[in-house]
Amino acid sequence: MTPRGRHRTAIAVVVAAVALAPLVLGKFGVSLLNDIGIGALVALGLVLLTGIGGATSFGQAAFVGIAAYASAWLSTAHGVSPWIGLFFALVLTGIAALLIGLLTLRLGGHFLPLSTIAWGLSIALVFGNMEALGGHTGLANIPPLRIGGWSLIEPEAIYYLIWVLVGLAVVFTRNVLRSRPGRAIRSLRGGAVLLASVGADAFRVRLTLFVLAALLAGLAGWLYAHMNRFVSPSPFDLRASIEYLLMAVGGGLGQLSGALAGSAVVLLLKNLLQDTLPLLTQRAGQLQAVAFAVLFILLLQHARGGLMGFVRRWTRGRFAAPEVDPASFAGAGPLPRRTLPAAGLPVLAVTGAIKRFGGLVAVDGVSFEVRAGEIVGLIGPNGAGKSTLFNLLTRTLPMTAGRIDFLGRDVSALSQRKLARLGMARTFQHVKLRPQMSLLDNVALGTYGRTRAGLLAAGFGLDRGEERQSLAEAMRQLARVGLAERAHELAGSLPLGTQRTLEIARALAADPVLLVLDEPAAGLRRQEKLALGELLRTLRGEGVTILVVEHDMDFVMKLVDRLVVMNFGAKLVEGAPAAVRADVRVQAAYLGVTS
Ligand code: ADP
Ligand code: MG
Repeated sequence: MTPRGRHRTAIAVVVAAVALAPLVLGKFGVSLLNDIGIGALVALGLVLLTGIGGATSFGQAAFVGIAAYASAWLSTAHGVSPWIGLFFALVLTGIAALLIGLLTLRLGGHFLPLSTIAWGLSIALVFGNMEALGGHTGLANIPPLRIGGWSLIEPEAIYYLIWVLVGLAVVFTRNVLRSRPGRAIRSLRGGAVLLASVGADAFRVRLTLFVLAALLAGLAGWLYAHMNRFVSPSPFDLRASIEYLLMAVGGGLGQLSGALAGSAVVLLLKNLLQDTLPLLTQRAGQLQAVAFAVLFILLLQHARGGLMGFVRRWTRGRFAAPEVDPASFAGAGPLPRRTLPAAGLPVLAVTGAIKRFGGLVAVDGVSFEVRAGEIVGLIGPNGAGKSTLFNLLTRTLPMTAGRIDFLGRDVSALSQRKLARLGMARTFQHVKLRPQMSLLDNVALGTYGRTRAGLLAAGFGLDRGEERQSLAEAMRQLARVGLAERAHELAGSLPLGTQRTLEIARALAADPVLLVLDEPAAGLRRQEKLALGELLRTLRGEGVTILVVEHDMDFVMKLVDRLVVMNFGAKLVEGAPAAVRADVRVQAAYLGVTS
Protein backbone atom coordinates (compact mmCIF):
# COMPACT_ATOMS: atom_id res chain seq x y z
CA MET A 1 0.00 0.00 0.00
CA THR A 2 1.15 3.58 -0.64
CA PRO A 3 1.85 5.86 2.35
CA ARG A 4 -1.28 7.81 1.39
CA GLY A 5 -3.32 4.61 1.31
CA ARG A 6 -2.00 3.48 4.70
CA HIS A 7 -2.77 6.88 6.22
CA ARG A 8 -6.31 6.83 4.83
CA THR A 9 -6.86 3.29 6.03
CA ALA A 10 -5.74 4.24 9.54
CA ILE A 11 -8.17 7.17 9.57
CA ALA A 12 -11.00 5.01 8.19
CA VAL A 13 -10.44 2.45 10.96
CA VAL A 14 -10.64 5.15 13.65
CA VAL A 15 -13.76 6.72 12.10
CA ALA A 16 -15.46 3.31 11.79
CA ALA A 17 -14.58 2.46 15.40
CA VAL A 18 -16.05 5.75 16.64
CA ALA A 19 -19.18 5.28 14.50
CA LEU A 20 -19.81 1.72 15.68
CA ALA A 21 -18.81 2.14 19.33
CA PRO A 22 -22.32 2.95 20.67
CA LEU A 23 -23.61 -0.32 19.16
CA VAL A 24 -21.31 -2.39 21.37
CA LEU A 25 -20.81 -0.17 24.41
CA GLY A 26 -23.28 0.33 27.22
CA LYS A 27 -24.51 3.69 28.51
CA PHE A 28 -21.50 4.11 30.73
CA GLY A 29 -19.03 3.50 27.93
CA VAL A 30 -20.82 5.95 25.64
CA SER A 31 -20.82 8.62 28.36
CA LEU A 32 -17.12 8.12 28.82
CA LEU A 33 -16.56 8.52 25.07
CA ASN A 34 -18.61 11.72 25.17
CA ASP A 35 -16.31 13.09 27.84
CA ILE A 36 -13.29 11.98 25.80
CA GLY A 37 -14.61 13.80 22.72
CA ILE A 38 -15.16 17.00 24.68
CA GLY A 39 -11.71 16.73 26.28
CA ALA A 40 -10.20 16.10 22.85
CA LEU A 41 -11.58 19.41 21.54
CA VAL A 42 -9.81 21.32 24.30
CA ALA A 43 -6.63 19.26 23.92
CA LEU A 44 -6.66 19.88 20.18
CA GLY A 45 -6.42 23.60 20.84
CA LEU A 46 -3.53 22.95 23.23
CA VAL A 47 -1.66 20.78 20.74
CA LEU A 48 -1.85 23.73 18.35
CA LEU A 49 -1.07 26.44 20.89
CA THR A 50 1.52 24.67 23.03
CA GLY A 51 2.80 21.85 20.87
CA ILE A 52 3.08 23.68 17.59
CA GLY A 53 2.98 27.35 18.60
CA GLY A 54 5.19 26.96 21.67
CA ALA A 55 2.99 28.93 24.12
CA THR A 56 2.05 26.97 27.23
CA SER A 57 -1.40 27.66 28.66
CA PHE A 58 -2.41 26.63 32.17
CA GLY A 59 -5.73 28.37 31.76
CA GLN A 60 -7.58 26.56 28.99
CA ALA A 61 -10.40 25.38 31.27
CA ALA A 62 -11.31 29.04 31.80
CA PHE A 63 -12.41 29.28 28.16
CA VAL A 64 -14.38 26.05 28.50
CA GLY A 65 -16.08 27.67 31.48
CA ILE A 66 -16.82 31.01 29.84
CA ALA A 67 -18.62 29.28 26.96
CA ALA A 68 -20.40 26.78 29.23
CA TYR A 69 -21.67 29.49 31.56
CA ALA A 70 -22.63 31.83 28.70
CA SER A 71 -24.86 29.30 26.98
CA ALA A 72 -26.15 27.90 30.29
CA TRP A 73 -27.14 31.33 31.57
CA LEU A 74 -28.78 32.43 28.31
CA SER A 75 -30.80 29.23 27.98
CA THR A 76 -31.88 29.00 31.63
CA ALA A 77 -32.39 32.64 32.61
CA HIS A 78 -33.60 33.88 29.22
CA GLY A 79 -35.00 30.80 27.52
CA VAL A 80 -32.72 31.30 24.52
CA SER A 81 -32.18 28.30 22.21
CA PRO A 82 -28.86 26.52 22.91
CA TRP A 83 -27.94 27.02 19.24
CA ILE A 84 -28.14 30.78 19.66
CA GLY A 85 -26.36 30.17 22.96
CA LEU A 86 -23.54 28.55 20.97
CA PHE A 87 -23.16 31.67 18.89
CA PHE A 88 -22.94 33.94 21.92
CA ALA A 89 -20.72 31.49 23.80
CA LEU A 90 -18.19 31.49 20.97
CA VAL A 91 -18.32 35.27 20.54
CA LEU A 92 -17.76 35.79 24.26
CA THR A 93 -14.95 33.22 24.41
CA GLY A 94 -13.33 34.79 21.36
CA ILE A 95 -13.48 38.28 22.84
CA ALA A 96 -12.16 37.06 26.20
CA ALA A 97 -9.27 35.29 24.46
CA LEU A 98 -8.54 38.33 22.36
CA LEU A 99 -8.36 40.60 25.41
CA ILE A 100 -6.32 38.17 27.50
CA GLY A 101 -4.07 37.51 24.52
CA LEU A 102 -3.50 41.21 23.86
CA LEU A 103 -2.50 41.65 27.50
CA THR A 104 -0.30 38.59 27.96
CA LEU A 105 1.03 37.19 24.68
CA ARG A 106 3.84 39.73 24.47
CA LEU A 107 5.26 38.39 27.70
CA GLY A 108 8.40 36.40 27.05
CA GLY A 109 9.96 33.38 28.71
CA HIS A 110 8.22 32.00 31.78
CA PHE A 111 5.95 34.99 32.20
CA LEU A 112 3.33 33.84 29.72
CA PRO A 113 2.72 30.45 31.40
CA LEU A 114 2.69 32.23 34.79
CA SER A 115 0.08 34.69 33.60
CA THR A 116 -2.08 31.86 32.27
CA ILE A 117 -2.05 30.39 35.78
CA ALA A 118 -3.29 33.74 37.07
CA TRP A 119 -6.35 33.90 34.85
CA GLY A 120 -6.85 30.15 35.04
CA LEU A 121 -7.18 30.58 38.80
CA SER A 122 -9.33 33.66 38.77
CA ILE A 123 -12.08 32.60 36.36
CA ALA A 124 -13.48 29.86 38.60
CA LEU A 125 -13.49 32.35 41.50
CA VAL A 126 -15.44 34.81 39.38
CA PHE A 127 -18.07 32.20 38.51
CA GLY A 128 -18.35 31.17 42.14
CA ASN A 129 -18.99 34.72 43.30
CA MET A 130 -21.57 35.81 40.77
CA GLU A 131 -25.12 35.55 42.09
CA ALA A 132 -26.63 35.54 38.61
CA LEU A 133 -24.56 32.47 37.76
CA GLY A 134 -25.70 30.60 40.85
CA GLY A 135 -22.57 31.19 42.93
CA HIS A 136 -20.77 28.04 44.08
CA THR A 137 -23.81 25.84 43.47
CA GLY A 138 -23.93 26.75 39.80
CA LEU A 139 -26.75 26.60 37.29
CA ALA A 140 -29.05 23.58 36.96
CA ASN A 141 -31.86 22.53 34.62
CA ILE A 142 -29.99 23.61 31.51
CA PRO A 143 -32.07 22.58 28.48
CA PRO A 144 -30.69 19.76 26.34
CA LEU A 145 -29.71 20.30 22.72
CA ARG A 146 -32.43 19.72 20.12
CA ILE A 147 -32.16 18.95 16.45
CA GLY A 148 -35.60 19.43 14.92
CA GLY A 149 -37.98 17.66 17.27
CA TRP A 150 -35.29 15.32 18.55
CA SER A 151 -33.79 16.18 21.91
CA LEU A 152 -30.31 14.93 22.66
CA ILE A 153 -30.83 13.90 26.26
CA GLU A 154 -29.50 10.34 26.19
CA PRO A 155 -25.73 9.82 25.98
CA GLU A 156 -26.17 7.90 22.69
CA ALA A 157 -28.06 10.84 21.21
CA ILE A 158 -25.47 13.56 21.84
CA TYR A 159 -22.64 11.13 21.08
CA TYR A 160 -22.81 11.60 17.33
CA LEU A 161 -23.03 15.39 17.58
CA ILE A 162 -19.92 15.48 19.78
CA TRP A 163 -17.89 13.22 17.52
CA VAL A 164 -18.99 14.90 14.30
CA LEU A 165 -17.80 18.19 15.83
CA VAL A 166 -14.52 16.56 16.90
CA GLY A 167 -14.11 15.27 13.34
CA LEU A 168 -14.81 18.70 11.85
CA ALA A 169 -12.41 20.34 14.30
CA VAL A 170 -9.66 17.89 13.36
CA VAL A 171 -10.23 18.50 9.64
CA PHE A 172 -10.28 22.27 10.20
CA THR A 173 -7.05 22.32 12.19
CA ARG A 174 -5.37 19.91 9.80
CA ASN A 175 -6.27 22.21 6.88
CA VAL A 176 -4.93 25.18 8.81
CA LEU A 177 -1.59 23.51 9.45
CA ARG A 178 -1.14 22.84 5.73
CA SER A 179 -1.70 26.40 4.67
CA ARG A 180 -0.22 29.88 4.60
CA PRO A 181 -1.25 30.76 8.19
CA GLY A 182 -0.28 27.22 9.25
CA ARG A 183 3.28 27.64 8.00
CA ALA A 184 3.50 30.86 10.01
CA ILE A 185 2.13 29.08 13.10
CA ARG A 186 4.65 26.27 12.65
CA SER A 187 7.41 28.88 12.38
CA LEU A 188 6.52 30.74 15.60
CA ARG A 189 9.23 28.89 17.52
CA GLY A 190 11.74 30.27 15.02
CA GLY A 191 11.17 33.73 16.50
CA ALA A 192 9.65 37.06 15.53
CA VAL A 193 12.60 38.14 13.38
CA LEU A 194 12.25 35.09 11.13
CA LEU A 195 8.53 35.76 10.65
CA ALA A 196 9.08 39.47 10.02
CA SER A 197 11.66 38.59 7.37
CA VAL A 198 8.92 36.93 5.31
CA GLY A 199 6.42 39.70 6.01
CA ALA A 200 4.50 38.06 8.86
CA ASP A 201 3.67 39.55 12.25
CA ALA A 202 4.55 36.98 14.92
CA PHE A 203 2.38 38.62 17.55
CA ARG A 204 -0.68 38.55 15.31
CA VAL A 205 -0.04 34.95 14.32
CA ARG A 206 0.26 33.97 17.99
CA LEU A 207 -2.85 35.94 18.92
CA THR A 208 -4.90 34.28 16.17
CA LEU A 209 -3.68 30.89 17.29
CA PHE A 210 -4.56 31.70 20.89
CA VAL A 211 -8.10 32.69 19.89
CA LEU A 212 -8.50 29.55 17.77
CA ALA A 213 -7.43 27.36 20.71
CA ALA A 214 -9.86 29.24 22.97
CA LEU A 215 -12.72 28.76 20.49
CA LEU A 216 -12.10 25.01 20.42
CA ALA A 217 -12.26 25.08 24.23
CA GLY A 218 -15.44 27.15 23.95
CA LEU A 219 -17.08 24.61 21.67
CA ALA A 220 -16.21 21.96 24.24
CA GLY A 221 -17.70 24.08 27.03
CA TRP A 222 -20.98 24.52 25.18
CA LEU A 223 -21.27 20.76 24.62
CA TYR A 224 -20.38 20.16 28.27
CA ALA A 225 -23.09 22.50 29.57
CA HIS A 226 -25.90 21.03 27.47
CA MET A 227 -24.77 17.43 27.90
CA ASN A 228 -24.51 17.50 31.69
CA ARG A 229 -27.28 20.10 31.92
CA PHE A 230 -25.61 21.49 35.01
CA VAL A 231 -22.60 23.76 35.46
CA SER A 232 -20.64 24.76 38.58
CA PRO A 233 -17.26 26.52 38.94
CA SER A 234 -15.02 23.59 39.87
CA PRO A 235 -14.80 21.82 36.45
CA PHE A 236 -13.25 25.02 35.06
CA ASP A 237 -10.60 25.65 37.70
CA LEU A 238 -6.84 25.42 37.53
CA ARG A 239 -6.85 21.70 38.24
CA ALA A 240 -9.03 21.12 35.18
CA SER A 241 -6.71 23.28 33.07
CA ILE A 242 -3.77 21.18 34.13
CA GLU A 243 -5.70 18.05 33.26
CA TYR A 244 -6.26 19.36 29.73
CA LEU A 245 -2.59 20.17 29.41
CA LEU A 246 -1.81 16.66 30.62
CA MET A 247 -4.03 15.30 27.84
CA ALA A 248 -2.16 17.25 25.18
CA VAL A 249 1.28 16.37 26.54
CA GLY A 250 0.37 12.76 27.28
CA GLY A 251 -1.14 12.22 23.86
CA GLY A 252 1.72 13.90 22.08
CA LEU A 253 2.19 17.58 21.32
CA GLY A 254 3.70 16.85 17.94
CA GLN A 255 0.56 15.77 16.11
CA LEU A 256 -3.18 16.43 16.13
CA SER A 257 -4.00 12.79 16.85
CA GLY A 258 -2.25 13.32 20.19
CA ALA A 259 -5.28 15.29 21.39
CA LEU A 260 -7.60 12.32 20.87
CA ALA A 261 -5.18 9.80 22.32
CA GLY A 262 -4.37 12.04 25.29
CA SER A 263 -7.98 12.75 26.17
CA ALA A 264 -8.75 9.03 26.02
CA VAL A 265 -5.78 8.02 28.17
CA VAL A 266 -6.29 10.69 30.83
CA LEU A 267 -10.02 10.07 31.20
CA LEU A 268 -9.73 6.28 31.16
CA LEU A 269 -6.98 6.48 33.75
CA LYS A 270 -8.96 8.86 35.89
CA ASN A 271 -11.87 6.44 35.79
CA LEU A 272 -9.67 3.52 36.67
CA LEU A 273 -8.20 5.42 39.62
CA GLN A 274 -11.64 6.50 40.79
CA ASP A 275 -12.73 2.85 40.79
CA THR A 276 -9.66 1.34 42.39
CA LEU A 277 -8.25 3.93 44.80
CA PRO A 278 -11.26 3.96 47.18
CA LEU A 279 -10.64 0.25 47.71
CA LEU A 280 -7.18 1.06 49.04
CA THR A 281 -7.67 4.25 51.01
CA GLN A 282 -10.24 6.69 52.26
CA ARG A 283 -8.37 9.68 50.86
CA ALA A 284 -8.85 8.67 47.24
CA GLY A 285 -9.22 12.22 45.94
CA GLN A 286 -5.83 13.34 47.19
CA LEU A 287 -4.17 10.14 46.13
CA GLN A 288 -5.53 10.57 42.62
CA ALA A 289 -3.79 13.93 42.33
CA VAL A 290 -0.54 12.34 43.51
CA ALA A 291 -0.91 9.45 41.07
CA PHE A 292 -1.42 11.90 38.21
CA ALA A 293 1.61 13.92 39.24
CA VAL A 294 3.79 10.81 39.28
CA LEU A 295 2.53 9.72 35.87
CA PHE A 296 3.14 13.18 34.46
CA ILE A 297 6.74 13.21 35.68
CA LEU A 298 7.37 9.70 34.33
CA LEU A 299 5.92 10.77 31.01
CA LEU A 300 8.19 13.78 30.71
CA GLN A 301 11.17 11.62 31.70
CA HIS A 302 10.59 8.76 29.31
CA ALA A 303 8.20 9.74 26.54
CA ARG A 304 8.49 13.39 25.61
CA GLY A 305 6.61 12.73 22.39
CA GLY A 306 3.63 11.39 24.30
CA LEU A 307 1.60 8.36 23.31
CA MET A 308 1.31 9.22 19.62
CA GLY A 309 5.00 10.07 19.44
CA PHE A 310 5.65 6.58 20.77
CA VAL A 311 3.18 5.00 18.33
CA ARG A 312 4.81 6.91 15.51
CA ARG A 313 8.25 5.61 16.36
CA TRP A 314 6.96 2.11 16.91
CA THR A 315 5.22 2.02 13.50
CA ARG A 316 8.15 3.93 11.97
CA GLY A 317 5.78 6.60 10.73
CA ARG A 318 4.05 4.18 8.38
CA PHE A 319 0.62 5.60 9.17
CA ALA A 320 1.65 9.24 9.42
CA ALA A 321 0.22 11.82 7.02
CA PRO A 322 2.26 11.81 3.81
CA GLU A 323 3.82 14.91 2.29
CA VAL A 324 1.76 16.84 -0.25
CA ASP A 325 1.82 15.16 -3.63
CA PRO A 326 3.84 17.29 -6.12
CA ALA A 327 1.34 16.31 -8.82
CA SER A 328 -1.37 18.17 -6.89
CA PHE A 329 0.22 21.57 -7.55
CA ALA A 330 2.26 20.86 -10.68
CA GLY A 331 -0.04 22.76 -13.02
CA ALA A 332 -0.67 25.77 -10.77
CA GLY A 333 -0.23 29.22 -12.30
CA PRO A 334 2.35 31.70 -11.01
CA LEU A 335 1.78 34.06 -8.08
CA PRO A 336 1.61 37.76 -9.00
CA ARG A 337 5.07 39.24 -9.51
CA ARG A 338 6.58 42.62 -8.75
CA THR A 339 7.87 44.77 -11.57
CA LEU A 340 11.61 45.05 -10.99
CA PRO A 341 13.22 48.48 -11.40
CA ALA A 342 15.24 48.97 -14.59
CA ALA A 343 18.97 48.28 -14.26
CA GLY A 344 20.88 51.22 -12.83
CA LEU A 345 17.99 52.79 -10.91
CA PRO A 346 18.65 53.31 -7.19
CA VAL A 347 17.27 50.48 -5.04
CA LEU A 348 18.81 51.15 -1.64
CA ALA A 349 20.36 54.34 -0.29
CA VAL A 350 21.87 54.48 3.19
CA THR A 351 22.66 58.03 4.32
CA GLY A 352 24.65 58.90 7.43
CA ALA A 353 23.61 55.76 9.32
CA ILE A 354 24.67 55.81 12.98
CA LYS A 355 24.20 53.15 15.65
CA ARG A 356 25.35 53.57 19.20
CA PHE A 357 25.35 50.85 21.83
CA GLY A 358 25.81 52.89 24.99
CA GLY A 359 29.24 54.48 24.55
CA LEU A 360 30.24 52.30 21.61
CA VAL A 361 29.60 53.65 18.11
CA ALA A 362 29.15 50.43 16.10
CA VAL A 363 28.13 52.23 12.88
CA ASP A 364 29.47 55.73 12.46
CA GLY A 365 27.84 57.80 9.71
CA VAL A 366 27.97 55.30 6.85
CA SER A 367 26.50 56.23 3.44
CA PHE A 368 26.32 54.13 0.28
CA GLU A 369 23.99 53.14 -2.53
CA VAL A 370 22.94 49.96 -4.28
CA ARG A 371 21.56 50.16 -7.82
CA ALA A 372 19.28 47.72 -9.62
CA GLY A 373 21.06 44.78 -11.22
CA GLU A 374 24.27 45.15 -9.15
CA ILE A 375 25.96 42.86 -6.69
CA VAL A 376 27.47 45.05 -3.99
CA GLY A 377 29.75 43.67 -1.30
CA LEU A 378 29.95 45.18 2.19
CA ILE A 379 33.20 43.98 3.70
CA GLY A 380 35.48 44.73 6.59
CA PRO A 381 37.41 42.97 9.35
CA ASN A 382 35.62 41.32 12.28
CA GLY A 383 33.94 43.87 14.52
CA ALA A 384 33.88 46.54 11.78
CA GLY A 385 30.12 46.97 12.21
CA LYS A 386 28.89 45.06 9.13
CA SER A 387 26.24 43.00 10.89
CA THR A 388 25.02 46.04 12.79
CA LEU A 389 24.69 47.99 9.54
CA PHE A 390 22.93 44.98 8.01
CA ASN A 391 20.44 45.03 10.87
CA LEU A 392 19.90 48.76 10.45
CA LEU A 393 19.13 48.60 6.77
CA THR A 394 16.81 45.59 7.13
CA ARG A 395 15.11 47.46 10.02
CA THR A 396 15.86 44.65 12.46
CA LEU A 397 17.59 47.14 14.79
CA PRO A 398 16.46 50.73 15.36
CA MET A 399 18.88 53.38 14.05
CA THR A 400 20.32 56.07 16.31
CA ALA A 401 20.42 58.52 13.41
CA GLY A 402 20.49 58.51 9.63
CA ARG A 403 18.22 57.64 6.79
CA ILE A 404 17.39 54.58 4.66
CA ASP A 405 15.65 54.86 1.29
CA PHE A 406 14.32 51.80 -0.47
CA LEU A 407 12.94 52.08 -4.01
CA GLY A 408 12.74 55.83 -3.70
CA ARG A 409 10.86 55.77 -0.42
CA ASP A 410 12.08 56.80 3.04
CA VAL A 411 11.83 53.60 5.09
CA SER A 412 13.81 54.82 8.12
CA ALA A 413 10.80 54.33 10.39
CA LEU A 414 9.19 51.33 8.68
CA SER A 415 8.95 47.97 10.47
CA GLN A 416 11.10 45.08 9.34
CA ARG A 417 7.95 43.25 8.28
CA LYS A 418 6.66 46.05 6.08
CA LEU A 419 10.06 46.55 4.51
CA ALA A 420 10.15 42.84 3.68
CA ARG A 421 6.78 43.22 1.99
CA LEU A 422 8.13 46.06 -0.14
CA GLY A 423 10.64 43.63 -1.61
CA MET A 424 13.70 43.43 0.64
CA ALA A 425 14.45 39.78 1.40
CA ARG A 426 17.22 38.62 3.69
CA THR A 427 19.02 35.55 4.90
CA PHE A 428 20.59 35.08 8.31
CA GLN A 429 24.20 34.75 9.40
CA HIS A 430 23.03 32.05 11.80
CA VAL A 431 20.47 30.22 9.68
CA LYS A 432 16.88 30.47 10.80
CA LEU A 433 15.09 27.49 9.29
CA ARG A 434 12.39 25.27 10.71
CA PRO A 435 14.27 21.99 11.03
CA GLN A 436 11.09 19.91 11.42
CA MET A 437 9.48 21.32 8.28
CA SER A 438 10.23 20.06 4.78
CA LEU A 439 12.39 22.07 2.41
CA LEU A 440 9.25 22.75 0.41
CA ASP A 441 7.38 24.18 3.42
CA ASN A 442 10.37 26.26 4.50
CA VAL A 443 10.56 27.85 1.08
CA ALA A 444 6.78 28.23 0.76
CA LEU A 445 6.94 30.28 3.98
CA GLY A 446 8.76 32.85 1.86
CA THR A 447 5.61 33.46 -0.21
CA TYR A 448 3.76 34.71 2.90
CA GLY A 449 3.90 38.36 1.91
CA ARG A 450 2.64 37.62 -1.62
CA THR A 451 -0.43 35.63 -0.56
CA ARG A 452 -3.63 36.35 1.32
CA ALA A 453 -5.37 33.30 2.82
CA GLY A 454 -6.33 33.75 6.47
CA LEU A 455 -7.12 31.21 9.14
CA LEU A 456 -10.81 30.78 8.31
CA ALA A 457 -10.30 30.44 4.56
CA ALA A 458 -7.53 27.93 5.20
CA GLY A 459 -9.52 25.94 7.76
CA PHE A 460 -12.52 25.62 5.45
CA GLY A 461 -10.27 24.70 2.51
CA LEU A 462 -11.09 27.82 0.49
CA ASP A 463 -7.42 28.63 -0.07
CA ARG A 464 -6.52 25.67 -2.24
CA GLY A 465 -5.96 27.61 -5.48
CA GLU A 466 -3.57 30.07 -3.87
CA GLU A 467 -1.94 27.31 -1.83
CA ARG A 468 -1.14 25.35 -4.99
CA GLN A 469 0.43 28.48 -6.44
CA SER A 470 2.54 28.96 -3.28
CA LEU A 471 3.79 25.39 -3.37
CA ALA A 472 4.49 25.56 -7.09
CA GLU A 473 6.44 28.78 -6.52
CA ALA A 474 8.39 27.15 -3.68
CA MET A 475 9.20 24.23 -5.97
CA ARG A 476 10.40 26.61 -8.69
CA GLN A 477 12.72 28.39 -6.25
CA LEU A 478 14.04 25.06 -4.95
CA ALA A 479 14.81 24.10 -8.54
CA ARG A 480 16.50 27.48 -9.08
CA VAL A 481 18.98 26.78 -6.28
CA GLY A 482 19.33 23.10 -7.20
CA LEU A 483 17.41 21.50 -4.32
CA ALA A 484 14.23 20.36 -6.07
CA GLU A 485 14.91 16.63 -5.65
CA ARG A 486 15.14 17.03 -1.88
CA ALA A 487 11.91 19.04 -1.54
CA HIS A 488 10.33 16.57 0.89
CA GLU A 489 13.29 16.08 3.19
CA LEU A 490 13.36 17.88 6.53
CA ALA A 491 15.38 21.09 6.55
CA GLY A 492 17.14 19.95 9.73
CA SER A 493 18.72 17.05 7.87
CA LEU A 494 20.69 19.31 5.51
CA PRO A 495 24.37 20.18 6.03
CA LEU A 496 25.01 23.81 6.99
CA GLY A 497 26.10 24.95 3.54
CA THR A 498 22.95 23.60 1.95
CA GLN A 499 20.86 25.21 4.69
CA ARG A 500 22.22 28.59 3.62
CA THR A 501 21.22 27.83 0.04
CA LEU A 502 17.76 26.88 1.28
CA GLU A 503 17.48 30.27 3.00
CA ILE A 504 18.26 31.92 -0.32
CA ALA A 505 15.44 29.94 -1.94
CA ARG A 506 13.07 31.10 0.82
CA ALA A 507 14.13 34.70 0.24
CA LEU A 508 13.61 34.28 -3.51
CA ALA A 509 10.09 32.93 -2.94
CA ALA A 510 9.20 36.43 -1.72
CA ASP A 511 9.95 37.74 -5.24
CA PRO A 512 12.47 40.25 -3.87
CA VAL A 513 13.81 43.37 -5.53
CA LEU A 514 16.83 43.32 -3.23
CA LEU A 515 18.40 40.25 -1.67
CA VAL A 516 20.53 40.99 1.42
CA LEU A 517 22.84 38.22 2.62
CA ASP A 518 24.80 38.30 5.90
CA GLU A 519 28.03 36.29 5.61
CA PRO A 520 26.60 33.67 3.25
CA ALA A 521 30.02 32.05 2.75
CA ALA A 522 30.83 31.66 6.46
CA GLY A 523 31.56 28.04 7.30
CA LEU A 524 31.31 26.86 3.70
CA ARG A 525 33.86 24.58 2.07
CA ARG A 526 35.65 25.69 -1.09
CA GLN A 527 33.33 23.82 -3.44
CA GLU A 528 30.28 25.19 -1.68
CA LYS A 529 31.62 28.72 -1.92
CA LEU A 530 32.12 28.32 -5.65
CA ALA A 531 28.59 27.01 -6.07
CA LEU A 532 27.17 29.87 -4.01
CA GLY A 533 29.07 32.45 -6.10
CA GLU A 534 27.74 30.80 -9.25
CA LEU A 535 24.18 30.92 -7.92
CA LEU A 536 24.40 34.62 -7.00
CA ARG A 537 25.76 35.50 -10.44
CA THR A 538 22.89 33.59 -12.06
CA LEU A 539 20.40 35.51 -9.92
CA ARG A 540 21.95 38.80 -10.94
CA GLY A 541 21.52 37.66 -14.54
CA GLU A 542 17.82 37.22 -13.80
CA GLY A 543 17.49 40.80 -12.55
CA VAL A 544 17.80 40.40 -8.76
CA THR A 545 19.82 43.08 -6.99
CA ILE A 546 22.11 41.70 -4.29
CA LEU A 547 23.94 43.11 -1.28
CA VAL A 548 26.40 40.69 0.33
CA VAL A 549 27.81 41.40 3.76
CA GLU A 550 30.97 39.33 4.05
CA HIS A 551 34.11 38.88 6.04
CA ASP A 552 35.84 36.70 3.41
CA MET A 553 37.53 39.05 0.93
CA ASP A 554 38.45 36.38 -1.62
CA PHE A 555 34.86 35.24 -1.95
CA VAL A 556 33.45 38.69 -2.70
CA MET A 557 36.32 39.90 -4.89
CA LYS A 558 35.39 37.54 -7.72
CA LEU A 559 31.67 38.10 -7.29
CA VAL A 560 30.77 41.73 -6.88
CA ASP A 561 30.53 44.78 -9.11
CA ARG A 562 31.40 47.18 -6.32
CA LEU A 563 32.67 47.03 -2.76
CA VAL A 564 32.07 49.11 0.33
CA VAL A 565 34.74 48.58 2.96
CA MET A 566 34.07 49.30 6.63
CA ASN A 567 36.50 49.63 9.49
CA PHE A 568 35.80 50.66 13.10
CA GLY A 569 32.19 51.44 12.22
CA ALA A 570 32.98 53.92 9.45
CA LYS A 571 33.21 53.60 5.68
CA LEU A 572 36.86 53.26 4.73
CA VAL A 573 36.81 52.92 0.94
CA GLU A 574 34.31 52.33 -1.83
CA GLY A 575 35.04 51.16 -5.37
CA ALA A 576 35.61 48.37 -7.88
CA PRO A 577 37.17 45.16 -6.50
CA ALA A 578 40.55 45.64 -8.14
CA ALA A 579 40.91 49.20 -6.84
CA VAL A 580 39.84 48.17 -3.35
CA ARG A 581 42.26 45.27 -3.29
CA ALA A 582 45.10 47.61 -4.24
CA ASP A 583 44.18 50.21 -1.63
CA VAL A 584 46.77 50.40 1.14
CA ARG A 585 44.19 51.45 3.73
CA VAL A 586 42.20 48.28 3.09
CA GLN A 587 45.30 46.12 3.28
CA ALA A 588 46.26 47.76 6.53
CA ALA A 589 42.80 47.28 8.01
CA TYR A 590 42.70 43.59 7.12
CA LEU A 591 46.31 42.90 8.05
CA GLY A 592 45.94 44.85 11.23
CA VAL A 593 43.15 42.60 12.44
CA THR A 594 43.70 39.23 10.88
CA SER A 595 47.49 38.79 11.19
P1 ADP B 1 30.92 42.73 12.18
O1 ADP B 1 29.66 42.12 11.72
O2 ADP B 1 31.55 43.63 11.19
O3 ADP B 1 31.91 41.69 12.66
P2 ADP B 1 29.33 43.84 14.31
O4 ADP B 1 28.38 44.73 13.63
O5 ADP B 1 28.84 42.52 14.74
O6 ADP B 1 30.64 43.68 13.42
O7 ADP B 1 29.90 44.60 15.58
C1 ADP B 1 30.40 45.91 15.55
C2 ADP B 1 30.70 46.38 16.96
O8 ADP B 1 29.51 46.59 17.68
C3 ADP B 1 31.52 45.36 17.75
O9 ADP B 1 32.44 46.07 18.54
C4 ADP B 1 30.47 44.69 18.62
O10 ADP B 1 31.05 44.26 19.82
C5 ADP B 1 29.47 45.81 18.84
N1 ADP B 1 28.11 45.33 19.01
C6 ADP B 1 27.40 44.63 18.11
N2 ADP B 1 26.16 44.36 18.56
C7 ADP B 1 26.08 44.90 19.81
C8 ADP B 1 25.07 44.98 20.82
N3 ADP B 1 23.85 44.42 20.62
N4 ADP B 1 25.35 45.61 21.98
C9 ADP B 1 26.56 46.16 22.16
N5 ADP B 1 27.56 46.14 21.28
C10 ADP B 1 27.34 45.52 20.10
MG1 MG C 1 28.98 40.01 11.51
